Amino acid sequence: MVYDTHIHIMDEKVEPAKFSKKLRQAGIDGCVLLSQPPKSFYHHSYCFSQKASDRLDNLFTWCGQSENLFPFFWIDPLEKSALKQVKAAVKRGVMGFKVICDYYYPYDKRAMEVFRFIAENKKPILFHSGILWDGKMSSIYNRPAGFEALIEISGLKFALAHIAWPWCDELIAVYGKFQQAYLARPDLSVEMFVDITPGTPAIFRKDALYKLFKTGYDIKDHVLFGTDGFTSTFDVKQIKTMISTDRRIMNELDLPQAAIDGVFLNNFKRFVGIA
Ligand SMILES: [Zn+2]
Repeated sequence: MVYDTHIHIMDEKVEPAKFSKKLRQAGIDGCVLLSQPPKSFYHHSYCFSQKASDRLDNLFTWCGQSENLFPFFWIDPLEKSALKQVKAAVKRGVMGFKVICDYYYPYDKRAMEVFRFIAENKKPILFHSGILWDGKMSSIYNRPAGFEALIEISGLKFALAHIAWPWCDELIAVYGKFQQAYLARPDLSVEMFVDITPGTPAIFRKDALYKLFKTGYDIKDHVLFGTDGFTSTFDVKQIKTMISTDRRIMNELDLPQAAIDGVFLNNFKRFVGIA
């Protein structure tokens, strides 16, 4: 089975049946669907300025009919109504939240307050990390070390996407830091996952996965598969190639079957909260 942690809704079309069929053709059994982005992210021509409540409605029109499409609501934690938006999304039945820190650091006090509220509501957060292709100065906000601050948020489950490419080594080090912190501070209940959605250009892929799995940290239960596909342009052939490439690399790395099953299914279930 294959579950995908990272697929975007980036336009106004709502075609869940057609999309689900394509997912099945690509060999994907279910996925996280990330809502249309908040206003601050509207630098793409294909994004439409919408109220948060409209974006939430759109997300549930997509996911409402399907058991295999898991709704994640994309918020800008610095919007004045962010806490209200989280509350409304949780009430509606959202499974998690998506955040891209594109003009503020993850440890910004205002953002941390919102992340804490999400943790209190027992929902996971999928963060962008690594270089950000958005046509402006923003990658600096997405270096893995900036996410260390989340260590203080009890009960938070979060994932850093794209293996933080090109800062994969830094991401692995931050993961190691969280591991060590559990030993040093048994009170900690924050949990970090790594979403291996590319990011990584093809020639970096094997190297990044090799380091991720072989550095020596206990990571096998915290790696998530993802594609960064868009619902509107979902390319079955390309996605199939991504899955087979990652499977081939994991086999070449001699990963135990349980670790591979974790990446494609079991870790997804724990992250999304359906295990
Ligand atoms: Zn993405």
